[in-house]
Amino acid sequence: MGIDALERDNLSFPCSLPEFQRMFPNEATCATYLERSRWSEGFICEYCGFSEEPYRFANRLNVLRCRHCNCDTSLTADTVMARTHTPLTVWFWAAYLVSSQTQGMSAVQFQRQLGLSRYETAFQILRKLRVGMVRPDQDRIGGNSEEHVELDDLRWRSHAWQGARNS
Ligand SMILES: [Zn+2]
Repeated sequence: MGIDALERDNLSFPCSLPEFQRMFPNEATCATYLERSRWSEGFICEYCGFSEEPYRFANRLNVLRCRHCNCDTSLTADTVMARTHTPLTVWFWAAYLVSSQTQGMSAVQFQRQLGLSRYETAFQILRKLRVGMVRPDQDRIGGNSEEHVELDDLRWRSHAWQGARNS
């Protein structure tokens, strides 16, 4: 599942393509990342507050089911990826592209890079990620690439997955 790599990196966001590839080779590693970023101390059911290892489904990696009340929690609920039909791996690639491109990228380039057949899908993903990552007071701070990487790191973690719950 790649969990060891995630634990070692303490949920940092990858700074290079090889690192990205190592951390997120499949849907399962993306789902694990989302789970860890939401419940750093382990799953807590939002319906009954029960905290125990939830039921997991091999064909629905996005869903965790509480062992106590049987309610399902979606890993993408309240994020920019809510109710998405696009694979998590595509979203992660997309977020990587957006956060590593300081000049921004057009929806057409985005569509091509992600190998998406529909322009509309690329456009919507790009739009949602940008809305989720906007942080006016800290945008474009830092003159060198090192600082940009750190800033993008924070943007990714606090905004793509958590801050965007308000959007
Ligand atoms: Zn529950």
